[in-house]
Amino acid sequence: MIDDLLVVGGGIIGLSIADALVREGMAVRVLDSDRVASGASGAAAGMLAPLAEALVHSDSDPSLNPFLRLGLESLSRFESLAHRLRDETGIDPEFERSGLWRPVVDDDAQREALAGLARLGAAGDGIEWCQGEDLQEALPGLSEAIPGAFHSPLECHVRPPLLARGLAASLRSRGAVIEEGVSAMRVLREGDRVVGLETSAGLRRAGRVVVAAGAWTPALLEPVVATAEVPAIAPVRGQILSLSAPLPAVRGIVYARDVYCVPKRDGSWIVGATEERVGFDRRVTAEGVALLLERARALFPALESASFDRAWAGLRPVEATGWPRVGATGLEDLFVAAGHGRNGVLLAPITAERLRDVITGKRPRTSDALLDSSG
Ligand SMILES: Cc1cc2nc3c(=O)[nH]c(=O)nc-3n(C[C@H](O)[C@H](O)[C@H](O)COP(=O)(O)OP(=O)(O)OC[C@H]3O[C@@H](n4cnc5c(N)ncnc54)[C@H](O)[C@@H]3O)c2cc1C
Repeated sequence: MIDDLLVVGGGIIGLSIADALVREGMAVRVLDSDRVASGASGAAAGMLAPLAEALVHSDSDPSLNPFLRLGLESLSRFESLAHRLRDETGIDPEFERSGLWRPVVDDDAQREALAGLARLGAAGDGIEWCQGEDLQEALPGLSEAIPGAFHSPLECHVRPPLLARGLAASLRSRGAVIEEGVSAMRVLREGDRVVGLETSAGLRRAGRVVVAAGAWTPALLEPVVATAEVPAIAPVRGQILSLSAPLPAVRGIVYARDVYCVPKRDGSWIVGATEERVGFDRRVTAEGVALLLERARALFPALESASFDRAWAGLRPVEATGWPRVGATGLEDLFVAAGHGRNGVLLAPITAERLRDVITGKRPRTSDALLDSSG
């Protein structure tokens, strides 16, 4: 059988692309060498925080504005996506309009945050400063050493493993095939065209191939496209953990400079995340867990009596330019979507829409469909 589209990678990016193209009527097959969402996508905290994330870029970073624009556009797709998946599959991705608090530790941090806010322009209009009793009421248990926090009402979160499971169930219900435990080993070409993949389970032939294999993407592309076209993606390990009651009665995301806490619907908190360049080592280390707990307790001292549930780690696919590579390659019918770093959950819907439009010819055949403003 020849599929219309083969997608390598059952992470949030690959599944979202498959979802967009199956809804265009294509016969789609997704391969994952492990399980759906076994990579970075299953490890993520699920914050959908374009404003807070834009603020971590420096003033001189030219990607600030496109990131903000794309992040806001992508965020706007989540509510209807979550409703659709819940209605179609019974799996609720737990989309929450939680808002986000950004505590500042001293005057310098406040000045830095204000400068960042100015760079956000009109997008930052709803963000407000909070201190004193109002702050203690909004964030009970926040360390008294923290003088204040900015509140951003717009930002949200989801449960990435549920989002991935919902996408996979929806894909299957529309006739797509998802093969878990099947590794793509080599891209097959005839002349300048791609005709399928050699996999650990035999040949899979298709009209088009999308490589969305997260941190593992370069290894598949290197043998078939020019060196300059291979995205410079490296794995950056993120360790992350979950705590449960007793916890402070906080509802929004608390996003500090070196740690974040995301209160989830079941009452637990997700506390993340380290950023470590240790190759493909996915271990959870004693040092990583200790660091996260220490930083979280500096925000909320009462966390020392919280229950520790578990810790895990994932490998963020980080592109050297800071920008994901989404679009066509020099080989006809071979596409790539990878390198979303710390914002792949947030950027998944817009990535899928843009690549769908390149694949279906609604957009020019560009190698940079996220930054390309045509179409
Ligand atoms: C700790 C942590 C916290 C994060 N928090 C957030 C957050 O709050 N918000 C946010 O937006 N983003 C967050 N991220 C980033 C986000 O998780 C990633 O950007 C996103 O998941 C990348 O998705 P992906 O599909 O490209 O990669 P992955 O999820 O890594 O998926 C790639 C898949 O490809 C498969 N694969 C690899 N090689 C092959 C092969 N040869 N054949 C077949 N399959 C293959 C792998 O098994 C894997 O399942 C976080 C990441 C981490 C690690």
